[in-house]
Amino acid sequence: MDQQSFRRFGHAMVDWVADYMTAVEAMPVSARVEPGEILRALPADPPAGPEPMERIFDDFRKTILPGMTHWQHPGWFAYFPANTSPPSILAEILTAGLGAQCMSWATSPAATELEEAVLGWLGKMLGLAGGFTGVIQDTASTSTLVALLTARERATGFASGRDGMRRPLVVYASEEAHSSVEKAARIAGYGRENLRLVPTDEAYAMIPAALERAVEEDGKRGLEPCCVVGTVGTTSSTAVDPLDAIGDICRARGMWLHVDAAYAGTAALLPEMRWILRGAEKADSLVVNPHKWMLTGFDCSAYFVRDSAALVRTFDVSPEYLRTAADDRVRNYRDWGIALGRRFRALKLWFVIRSYGVEGLRAVVREHLRLAGLFRAWVEEDRRFELMAPSPFGLVVFRLNDGRGEEALDALNRKLLALINATGKVFLTHTTLRGRYAIRLSIGQATTAERHVRLAWEIISKAAADLLPHPG
Ligand code: PLP
Repeated sequence: MDQQSFRRFGHAMVDWVADYMTAVEAMPVSARVEPGEILRALPADPPAGPEPMERIFDDFRKTILPGMTHWQHPGWFAYFPANTSPPSILAEILTAGLGAQCMSWATSPAATELEEAVLGWLGKMLGLAGGFTGVIQDTASTSTLVALLTARERATGFASGRDGMRRPLVVYASEEAHSSVEKAARIAGYGRENLRLVPTDEAYAMIPAALERAVEEDGKRGLEPCCVVGTVGTTSSTAVDPLDAIGDICRARGMWLHVDAAYAGTAALLPEMRWILRGAEKADSLVVNPHKWMLTGFDCSAYFVRDSAALVRTFDVSPEYLRTAADDRVRNYRDWGIALGRRFRALKLWFVIRSYGVEGLRAVVREHLRLAGLFRAWVEEDRRFELMAPSPFGLVVFRLNDGRGEEALDALNRKLLALINATGKVFLTHTTLRGRYAIRLSIGQATTAERHVRLAWEIISKAAADLLPHPG
């Protein structure tokens, strides 16, 4: 592609993205395609020669776009948000243009030093007490794996990386912890059998006394308690584990405390929400995903660690071909995680923080919390519905409950969710809490405004009326 065409299509595609930001509202939120439909529309063989960009761009619009689920739709109430913003997108264009591979300081000094500076800002923005050093990972799943690997190495005096695991180490997390904890325990060598899922209280938060009992029992059986993952904002219901009490147990037993605040950590931008990280000063590591709720496009996961020397000792492998003259004076982020190659992710976070300012980001999160409060009040006032959990953040979990048996209620709510999503105007997802089917409405999309939440409630109410013609 020549420079002139690049410029022409570059402008056209920026225009397309700018239009998409508003046009998306008229599209169905989730893709209306059957499995295999897109694949069948694509040629089985690659083109032998060059194709004009007009045709490629056209195929993107005709073939690819209808198969996309629109995460940036204002009617996005599914899972958790993965919001983005114009400054984040602009930074991604520059990142792509630079095409830098930021594995070492020397391979892009500015990328390394910007990452150090921006994560320093972010730590302050979230009110994290001093002593944490930040690094960007791709996802929270990776951040948690990195934490479990470092905990394993610390507990074994760095012998397990050398000799392999010689004795069983145990990981603890609440029964509501994200599946990435189990994945990390399995692949970091602890094994699924050595992951204890600690019971939770009526608000779905870990019970510290139950953690203590589990740790004691393992000790008696000759196992070695190693690491606890506390969650701030669980995936099913945004429960907040009591980090303060969990931190005391970890300190008393010499266990690593990792905090998974992947989604909800962003709320700590607000001084009035800082309580969610009470006790985080006792943690060894913590993950917050700016790519969920902080207007920074996927992927950007901020991993904060107290003992960065232990982290680097866990991951450092320095073959001759990677060594540089600056190594003893700089950070080489390739040694702060799993992959050697690293994207320049700090740039978009820098653009976002500077474009909005801390107060601007706070305003966005505060508005989402207000909208969630509004929706929660509507559910609470409607006798057909039942709230399933507290909602301290942007997520409200609820179900229809007309008093029929639990199995029938599950089926009823499954139907309700199908009716809601069939409208294409909003997209919600489900979970189970204590085995009961529940619907999640998660507010956090950058463009979601009160009218979208009102529309969601109208759709939900109408679908409920269709299913329960005689409200009781
Ligand atoms: N932890 C929690 C509490 C989550 O809700 C999620 C995803 O929603 C994750 C971890 C995994 O995040 P990622 O997709 O960045 O790996």
